[in-house]
Formats: sequence, C-alpha cells, structure tokens
Amino acid sequence: MGYRPIARLRWPAFTRKHQAAQTGRSPTCGILLDRANGNSARGATAAQSTPSRGAVLLGRRAVCFETVRSKRENFDRRHRCLVSISSSDRSFLARAVELAAEAARTGNDPFGSVLVSDSGELLAEDRNRVGDLNDLTQHPEIALSRWAATNLNPDQRRSATVYTSGEHCVMCSASHGIVGLGRIVYATSTAQLLTWLEEFGAAPLAITPSPIQQIVPGIVVEGPVAEFSDAVRELHRRRHTSAE
Ligand SMILES: [Zn+2]
Repeated sequence: MGYRPIARLRWPAFTRKHQAAQTGRSPTCGILLDRANGNSARGATAAQSTPSRGAVLLGRRAVCFETVRSKRENFDRRHRCLVSISSSDRSFLARAVELAAEAARTGNDPFGSVLVSDSGELLAEDRNRVGDLNDLTQHPEIALSRWAATNLNPDQRRSATVYTSGEHCVMCSASHGIVGLGRIVYATSTAQLLTWLEEFGAAPLAITPSPIQQIVPGIVVEGPVAEFSDAVRELHRRRHTSAE
C-alpha cells in the first residue's frame, strides 16, 4: 500500500499510550483507533484516503506511520524519558548526578546541580546539604540561585543553564525564577521520584509538586533523560532502604 512502517508496538499498550498522549483530536488516528477497537479486520486501515499517514493493525501489533510517529515521539518526550540532549548537556548532567552521589555518601539526600554559562563554562556547583546543616531548605538548586544572584549580572543569569539530577521542587523553581536564571535540564523527574519514594516505602514529599513552567512562565525545561534513571534511582534506593 506504500506505507513505510516506522514502529511496531503491542496494540493494547499502543492504544493506551496514544490515547493518553492525545492533546487534540486527530481525525486520522481517531478513526483508526475506533476501527481497531471495533475489531476491524486484520490489516484494515482507515487511512486509505491519506495513505501517507496512519496506522494499521497486524494481528495484535500496530504498525504506525508518520503522523502517529510524531504523536508517539511527543508522548515519549513528556512521559517516557526520551529527551535528546547534546554531549555537553550529557557531561554536565553526569556531573550533577556525581554530586548527588557525593551528597548521598555524606549522609544527605541524593541531589546535585551545576550552573553553566552560555559559553559552556561551569560557573558553580553544589549538592544537597540538608543533613550537613540540619536545614531542610538546603537544596543545591536554591544554592545556585543565591550564588548567581550575587555573582552574575542579569544577562549572565538569563543565559545560564542549570543542570540538576532531579527536577526542581517548588521552592527551587521559585528561587530560579526570582533571580532570572535561564534554561533547566534535569536528569530525572519529580514523577519518577514520587514513584521511587512509594516503591521504597519512604515518606512522600512535604509539598505538592508543580511543573517548573507553572512556577516560572516561559522557562525552557528539558528532561528527564533516560540514561540517568537507573543511577539516580539507585541513589534513592540506598537512601531510603536499609538494604545496600
Ligand atoms: Zn528544591
């Protein structure tokens, strides 16, 4: 039929993810899913009139085409940790995760962050010091905000990037926005953290999580990045369980 298969997913999973990912109506995909859910014949497609896009059922698998691919990628970016980052982004995130490990080794919660200028210079870095200072507000992101407030001018702050092992909490998002820092790249999300805390039987967060963009309108935020998930999860596992 001239279709170019780009992905094959087990159909029930595909259907759920697609429906969850849909932010607007997509007539082509909608018709396809309706027909699929209505037990359409194997191989049947509703995209006959627009053969360059659509999806088709092959047994219990769905083969999706161009428009479905873009929706799936959007979903992946938001929910399945497939944000693409540059090699320099990766190295700064790796440093943030190293700092998180250092925090854990010294009896603090496993979080670390670095502040990088627009020319790629590492300006400042810090880790969680809640245990060291017996102060629950000693998060690395707010420490970097304070450092930036006293060491950078507004333009430098605006063009700087904060790399952090875990998505900013509300307090740190607010400090980031108040001092006018720029882009944020995080390795793991608050949603992941909540899942892990529940999994490890740890206390839930004391404050209601909120997306950084809701606290700082217009901010550029990227994350989570899949390759760091296992390492950060392991830091939290060690922190919140007795088993090593
Ligand atoms: Zn925080």
